[in-house]
Amino acid sequence: MNERANLSLAQMDQMSLFHPVTSIDDLEQNGPQIYTAGSGVELTRDSGQVLLDMGAGLWCVNVGYGRTELVQAGADAMQKLSFQHFFGGASAEPTIRLADRLLGLFRDTVPGSDMARVFFGNSGSDANDTAVKLVTYYNNLRGKPAKKKIIARTGAYHGLTVASGSLTGIEGYHKAFDLPVKGVLHTSCPHYFAFSEQGESEAAFTDRLIAELEAMIAREGADTIAAFIAEPVMGTGGVLLPPEGYFARVQEVLARHDILLIADEVITGFGRTGQWFGSGTYGLRPDIVSLAKGLTSAYFPMSASVISNRMWDVFAGASGKTGAVMHGFTYSGHPVGAAIALANLEVMAREGMVENAARLAPVLLDALRASVAGNPHVGDVRGVGLMAGVEFAGFPAGSAPHRVVAKHAMEEGVLTRALPYMPVNAFSPPLCVTEAEILEAGRRYARALKAATPALDALSG
Ligand code: PLP
Repeated sequence: MNERANLSLAQMDQMSLFHPVTSIDDLEQNGPQIYTAGSGVELTRDSGQVLLDMGAGLWCVNVGYGRTELVQAGADAMQKLSFQHFFGGASAEPTIRLADRLLGLFRDTVPGSDMARVFFGNSGSDANDTAVKLVTYYNNLRGKPAKKKIIARTGAYHGLTVASGSLTGIEGYHKAFDLPVKGVLHTSCPHYFAFSEQGESEAAFTDRLIAELEAMIAREGADTIAAFIAEPVMGTGGVLLPPEGYFARVQEVLARHDILLIADEVITGFGRTGQWFGSGTYGLRPDIVSLAKGLTSAYFPMSASVISNRMWDVFAGASGKTGAVMHGFTYSGHPVGAAIALANLEVMAREGMVENAARLAPVLLDALRASVAGNPHVGDVRGVGLMAGVEFAGFPAGSAPHRVVAKHAMEEGVLTRALPYMPVNAFSPPLCVTEAEILEAGRRYARALKAATPALDALSG
């Protein structure tokens, strides 16, 4: 007789699951939150509570939950060809078409981009690992074996594998795992609201960041630095928008020192900023782009690394001498994932979800501003497209007011993320969200903030 047969699902979870990024103590005391169904912007819990998911999962369910077209595309693809690897030149139709579609999207929506090929993986983390390896490969082929370091930013989130976790610039993810590994540098976080000096204009703040970047390159030696990695908008860092002139200036510095630009568009790709890619929104001309999340709206774990002609020409030019490029994964290019991604992109295009994100951007910001109006604990509300952040201010370090508010928000029926670097609640609803749903989420968040205010008063001392 299995003595575990009578366990509740929550108990079984507590006794068998090792959750990612979860406190073991918390889980033991409070149990898991179990979700049973999703439709559009709504998630249902096992208690029957229905919540508005203003996080789109982890910034990833771009077309919303329960879209039949994606389900059907996955089922059809699985029936027809449930798996195909891509090693040694093996291939399959959905993946070929997806690569072509992604290159077309870059050509059409990112002015000045010059992308050549697409490599597929399984997660945002492995896409960034691929970027690190390909940048290394590029400089090895160019006879520059010392040019290997990567500059990331403090507050960045690029994943949690050994390499991508090292690029991530948030201490909480580093200490316990002896990260970052050698060869990763972090330059200052470009968050004007929290890190500008008294009286410093946004342009002067940018000047200071650029001077610091130049000093870092001079100190380390440009011949040791391979690439600079950046999210167009730092998501997990706190929905941190680049300050005035930042990316134009950064790119000018990189070009001068022969340093590649890796754009981590794992969150900003596929409409989040109100354009197809954050590179289009902010004028980036990346050498390699990491994509995941919205590529399949998280109906299938899939990532893509889009590689520029600048890098591809070096790879292709050396191929006669190098033989196979010895990088790839069992699931690279998975035809089921590719079929789902194609269906996802079709739904997004047909229903104008990128345009919806642009159109509803001011609605989301206004709703959040209205919901926090007059609250003395909120310092800033900002956003672009359908990603927005409410930042709390005036609290001692480590007091996490945003976690208190997020907990109340859940009770009120709205999911917002409490981020790990700045005290920020993030809002990134599925791109199918309606104006009415945003307004309702705003009202629920206002009630949550009101309910949390006595606790916030106490926390702020
Ligand atoms: N890059 C960015 C910008 C992300 O936000 C994330 C995940 O949130 C990642 C990379 C890592 O993606 P994954 O969790 O799929 O490995």
